[in-house]
Amino acid sequence: MQLPDALAPEPTIRLRIDEQALAHNWRALDRMSGKASAGAAVKANCYGLGVDACVPVLRDVGCDAFFVAHWSEVEALLPHVDAAQIAVLHGPVRDDDVRFAKATGVVPVLNSLSQVRRWNAAGGGRCHLMVDTGINRLGIAAGELGEPEIAKLNVDVLMSHLACADEDSVRNQTQLKAFRECLPAVQHNRASLANSAGIALGAEFGFDLTRPGLALYGGIPRPELASTIRQVAFVDAAIMQVRTLCEGNAVGYNGEFIAPSGMRVATVSLGYADGFLRSRGPGAALQHGDASLPVLGKVSMDMIVVDVTDAPELGEGDWLHVPMHLPDEAVQSGLSQYELLTVIGSRLR
Ligand SMILES: *Cc1c(COP(=O)(O)O)cnc(C)c1O
Repeated sequence: MQLPDALAPEPTIRLRIDEQALAHNWRALDRMSGKASAGAAVKANCYGLGVDACVPVLRDVGCDAFFVAHWSEVEALLPHVDAAQIAVLHGPVRDDDVRFAKATGVVPVLNSLSQVRRWNAAGGGRCHLMVDTGINRLGIAAGELGEPEIAKLNVDVLMSHLACADEDSVRNQTQLKAFRECLPAVQHNRASLANSAGIALGAEFGFDLTRPGLALYGGIPRPELASTIRQVAFVDAAIMQVRTLCEGNAVGYNGEFIAPSGMRVATVSLGYADGFLRSRGPGAALQHGDASLPVLGKVSMDMIVVDVTDAPELGEGDWLHVPMHLPDEAVQSGLSQYELLTVIGSRLR
């Protein structure tokens, strides 16, 4: 049964994407990439923010290289961008993946000699090639670049990935040097090394194409980006019920919060199924104007309880703001900025 849109009730939870902030972030990262142009990592549904909301903005501001991890992520992008602008980072793990690439025109990132053989066996064509320079996840070893199968490839982007770009680690220079040494070994059109944090490491990390993800969506992996990158994701949740507690009343599962005295609390439509994980609970607070409303007790799947004693004007249906300033929330919760975004639940869309 198809329900008419007009029938859909207003939700009690919402995610707003600031499209101007997203466009600004891409432009800023593109500028910081020096002579390189910036692409965009749009894997994991644009880090949880939604392909349909983000990819058209990135396309319209000038981005023309989009990276996903899985072949299954391609379909959501195809209404928005040309298949030839989409690259799949995991590469062709199975023969089916090659068939899919051939049929759609999406570009595989080849990560191993077996992926290279698989691609060549199907006739080859434009591809990207990942070389490992020290992260030891995916990528051809530098020592394999002389293999005859590699020489047969039509490599557009020769790439590698930094392991420690968010730190001041000597490994960044080691990987840069290793990547430079790989460049003469393989014919290619463009070279690409930097993710968001890598862009902030300096122009020598830019090469021809950069691949920011996190910073596009408001993450700040290095302090150099703090003054430039704007918050993109804004989350609000509505109050479903307000109640009065007496001294000694316990709140939520396992009664972890016990009211020290009478207080007014609100039950809010936001839980770990929406991406507000239990680790965000202790010490966290929602906001309403200038009022800070501490989270009480355990985060449930679909709700949390907050202290609204100091905000007597609040009642059922009122919207509360969920803080999403990623660097602060990461410190507060012990989660990475990446995790805070990618766990945002589908009920917010
Ligand atoms: C995810 C990913 C990126 C983007 O990294 P951020 O740290 O989010 O900017 C770039 N390149 C590769 C290979 C990736 O897997």
